[in-house]
Amino acid sequence: MQKTKFDVKLREYIDAQMPIIYIDSFDDNKIEEMVLQVTGSRQVWEWNEMDGCINRKKVENGKWTEVHEVIAPERTLYDLLKDGVRHEELNRKILIVKDIHTYLEDAKLVSLLKNACLRIEEGQLDTTFVFLSSIVKVPKELEKYMVLLQEDFLQEDGIREVIREFMEENELGTIYEKLLDEIVVAFKGLSQLEIETILALDFSARGKIDKETIRLIIEQKQQMIRKAGILEMIPVNEGLEDIGGLENLKEWLERKAVILKDMAKAQEFGVELPKGVLIAGVPGCGKSLNAKASAKLFEVPLLKLDMGRLMGKYVGESEANLRQAISLAEAISPCVLWVDELEKAFAGIGGEGGGAEVTTRLFGQFLTWMQEKKSAVFVVATANDIMKLPPELIRKGRFDEIFYVKLPAAEERRKIFEIHIRKRRPGELTEIDISKLVKKTEGYSGADIEGVVKDGIESAYVKGQSGVTTENILDAVEATHSLQEIMKEDIEKLEKEYKERRFKCASRIR
Ligand code: ADP
Repeated sequence: MQKTKFDVKLREYIDAQMPIIYIDSFDDNKIEEMVLQVTGSRQVWEWNEMDGCINRKKVENGKWTEVHEVIAPERTLYDLLKDGVRHEELNRKILIVKDIHTYLEDAKLVSLLKNACLRIEEGQLDTTFVFLSSIVKVPKELEKYMVLLQEDFLQEDGIREVIREFMEENELGTIYEKLLDEIVVAFKGLSQLEIETILALDFSARGKIDKETIRLIIEQKQQMIRKAGILEMIPVNEGLEDIGGLENLKEWLERKAVILKDMAKAQEFGVELPKGVLIAGVPGCGKSLNAKASAKLFEVPLLKLDMGRLMGKYVGESEANLRQAISLAEAISPCVLWVDELEKAFAGIGGEGGGAEVTTRLFGQFLTWMQEKKSAVFVVATANDIMKLPPELIRKGRFDEIFYVKLPAAEERRKIFEIHIRKRRPGELTEIDISKLVKKTEGYSGADIEGVVKDGIESAYVKGQSGVTTENILDAVEATHSLQEIMKEDIEKLEKEYKERRFKCASRIR
């Protein structure tokens, strides 16, 4: 069994006099308790915005008790570091600082910390800083004095063991196997510490561990997502029926749905778990729509990964963010992880300079995860311009399939018109001459078509008409430049490239 020994690691780093231990935590209280435990009779202070400087430990005759004595409520972290180091107040102490990431933006504070670290290294000061935050920000100046402690996520056997031990310790008897399995799955992607915390929370509130516990686990996970701020949970309203055309892609997704709906059975049969799909092509042709519809089809949550927010300005921050995003997605799995505008995230791979290096490392991390992924996180990556993507990403084995979407053919445009007219003016579907509209919209994208339908309806209303006519929509078509007109050369170049690389066409009609 591979349970993490978080407290052992923590103690080792403190004993090794590592100046800064940065703990990427979601539960500060639990970590604080652990710091108090592993430091035995050493003094522990804490600083937080609310209380200022606090003593956390009373030591008498070699014995310690946990306390919460406010020493200096008005003292800023800056002053505590400055005076504390100068007057040796911080000597032979552990200082816990909560939510450190906000303070590390302050250059003066970072410089004070660096100074303290130098003294610690030279043996003039005996202090350990324990920084707690769920957001990892490490200024370059502090990198060499710091160790980042993150928890590993438990595999199913490990989770089972933690639950079993918890039940034993609290004399809770046993739970039946099927429920235990469900709880284990719900806990997936969480660390030992997080699992123990949730169990303890539930046990102290209700005195038992049962089916209700699963609800609490899910709530906690959602809180983690909100707090981390890198993933967004997107409400899913659109289904396959809202997509006009793209039959090949839809059919492919339906096949994967059969597997994802009963993964255990499929795997037993020897079927591989689907990894995901890359959908490339011109803007406004239904890529995002497909990401949303796949979540609805698979009946799982949709998480959107914001690559822009992933990129941090501190050393290691982007990698830590990606790691966190991946583990959160795994925690929530089965789910669809939608990586939008993939080419933006990984542009500049292999280049030189700090930014490019980070991107290259990030990219490697993402590839490895895609390659080794065993969880039910189905990745839907979307990209407008696949030529900007590094070739490793489009090699076989990363995604199950790569599709390209092109501007809709006549038959597809008909379906798209029908979908958008039905949505807004269902009664006029038979009255509007869709064939005429289809003829006039060669080179228009799905988004263009939606746009002309909306405009047509709006002008009918503004003119005071009782209904919408074909003419209203035709006028809107006249007034709109098609996507093809706007980016003719780009579209042709891309399509040629996709064909050469033998990507699959999302549409059945060529
Ligand atoms: P992108 O390919 O840029 O991700 P989207 O999927 O966001 O494009 O499309 C934008 C909007 O255009 C969609 O929300 C939808 O209303 C409309 N649209 C695009 N393609 C289609 C389609 N094939 N069928 C129906 N609506 C479409």
